[in-house]
This record gives sequence, structure tokens and C-alpha cells, in this order.
Amino acid sequence: MNPAIDKLTKLMKEYEIDAAIVTQKQNIRYFSGFTSEDATLLLHPDECYLITDFRYIEQANLQCPTFKVIDAPGTKIAHFLKETLKKLDASRIWFEDNNLSYRTYTALSEELQNHELIPDNDILSSLRIRKTSEEICSIRKAASLSDKGFEYILNRIRPSVTEREIAIELEFFLRKNGSEELAFSIIAASGKNGSLPHAEPSDKKLCIGEFLTLDFGCVVNGYCSDMTRTVALGNIDSKLKEIYEITLQAQKMSLDYIGPGKKGIEVDKVARDYISSYGYGDYFGHGLGHGVGLNVHEAPTLSTKGEMLLEPGMVVSVEPGIYLPSKGGVRIEDLVVITETGYENLVSSPKHLIQL
Ligand code: ZN
Ligand code: ZN
Repeated sequence: MNPAIDKLTKLMKEYEIDAAIVTQKQNIRYFSGFTSEDATLLLHPDECYLITDFRYIEQANLQCPTFKVIDAPGTKIAHFLKETLKKLDASRIWFEDNNLSYRTYTALSEELQNHELIPDNDILSSLRIRKTSEEICSIRKAASLSDKGFEYILNRIRPSVTEREIAIELEFFLRKNGSEELAFSIIAASGKNGSLPHAEPSDKKLCIGEFLTLDFGCVVNGYCSDMTRTVALGNIDSKLKEIYEITLQAQKMSLDYIGPGKKGIEVDKVARDYISSYGYGDYFGHGLGHGVGLNVHEAPTLSTKGEMLLEPGMVVSVEPGIYLPSKGGVRIEDLVVITETGYENLVSSPKHLIQL
């Protein structure tokens, strides 16, 4: 049996749920292996259905051999669900309240008046938090391709090249070498732009005396990677040097601390306290890290809200940063798997201050 469906079936029993309707892209892939998002899954312990339309029937039959593939476009979906749930005698039905649009929900609740539609409260997605060794293998490949991308782009970083050119060259390399798509649009932020944690690459040219922050991720078998490095062009002033060394030390300290049994909030605190002790606490405005898998941002969170205990098989980013408005910013991000004894770092690019 498909291990994801197996896990779900156990959970459905526990919550006394008869069937689940899945509409979120990453969950569709997780449970069925279907790589397009134009589908709805109906999961029941006796039978799993993948509902799509003519364009994807052949693909779905190839990718999801254990699913019954149904051709029911648009508004026919709700009707199919009604007929099938009746046949299966299913009354309590999970739906993904974090994903289903209001319009679809309204249509479903009209058709499924004799059934109880129950919000899953992200329980379906929570099955993805602990990864199997196969899933970790895909993330490891994605991370190792990112490392190669960083090595490649380092040789192309020089004054007068624009942020946009760097981002495009890096994207071309990653895609050409096996990344199915990008985990997210590449961030290439230099100088003052570096103080915007999610800056979009612009036509700004790289200049001597500035930082360049590169944040990017690959996708292999649907699984994402995520890494950030900040490099300097030529000599930088002592303030920039200072924030680089503090960020690096905060990152190393949180990695020394991370492991099974620790809460996300506790790991976050290690980096936050260190950065705050130098007076830069207000300039580290985001969480220390996030889970990475089929989605580049998923549970668990390493932040002031991170109450979940870390367990072996979880994959999280560790990415402290310091952002000084109108001056520049630093972020250093690795991707780690929590293991029985600690962690494995999937990113191996150097972290010392590189001055090009
Ligand atoms: Zn990132
Ligand atoms: Zn990240």
C-alpha cells in the first residue's frame, strides 16, 4: 500500500472520518503522485479516486496506478462526489479549509447536504512533516544541485553585472542541470536592496564595497531545497563585516543546538538572543527557519511561534539574518534534516565571508 495513504487511513480512523477531499497541489502529489494540480482527490479506505478532465486522463492513469481516474470537469466534480460518497456510505468528510475556495466550498456544501463537511485543520498537510528516506533523498539531490549552482555563479559575480543578470544566469544553470522548476523566484539583492529580505532582482549593478545576497532553491521529484549565501564585492566597511560575523555565529550556534526533542521556538531563541546581544534584535524580523518539502515553506516553523517538537525526518531551514535599512543585509541559510542524534546539513557551500 501507498505509505502516505496508509498513514492517512490510520488518522481518519482516529478522528472518525470516513473520507477526505484533497484539493491542495502538494497534498495531491503526496497522496497520489500526480504532478499536475488540476485534480481533486477523494480518499476513502476502500477506494481512492483522482478526478480530473480529458487533458490529464492518460497522465493520471500512468502516474497513479492505484487510483480510479475519473473524467469529471468543473461543476461535475461536486456531483461525482455526491454520488460516490453516497455509494460508499461515507458521512463525515474532511476538506482542506486552508485551500478550498469559498466558491467551491459553497458548491460542495449544497451538493453534500446529507454529509458532514469537516475542516481538516491542516491535518492532511501535517502528514508530510516527517519525511521518508526516499523524500529526503530527493531534497538532498535538490540541495546538492543548489550547491553546484552557487559555485557556478560565484565565478560570474563582478562589478557592473546586474542583480537580474545574476538571477537569470543562476536560474539557467539550475534548470539546465536538472531542477524541474525553481522552488521560488531567485532573490539576488545587493547593497541597499539587501535590507529587504525578499527583494526582487532589479537592474541595479553590483558595486565594490557591497554585499550580494542570493537565496534560491531547486526542485527534484517535486521536492524543494532552499539556501542563502551572502558574499562581498571587494572590501566592505567594518559595520557590514560586523553584521556578517554576528549572523554567521548565530547560524552556527543554532545548528550546534538543533536536534530531536528541541522546540522550534527554542532553536530560534538561540540565534535571536545572540543577535539581540549585539543590539541587532530589531533587525532580525523574521523566523529562524521553516520546514521544506513538496512546499518550500511548510511546517514546522522555527520561530517565536514554534511549539512543535523537532523529530527525526523533519527537514528545516536555518536562516538568521540582519537587515539594516538603507545600508545592506546579510542572511545565511542552510537546510538540515533532523536525525536520531542531531542533524545532517544538506548544504555544503562555504559560509566564511567570501570577498570577490
Ligand atoms: Zn531561502
Ligand atoms: Zn528559507
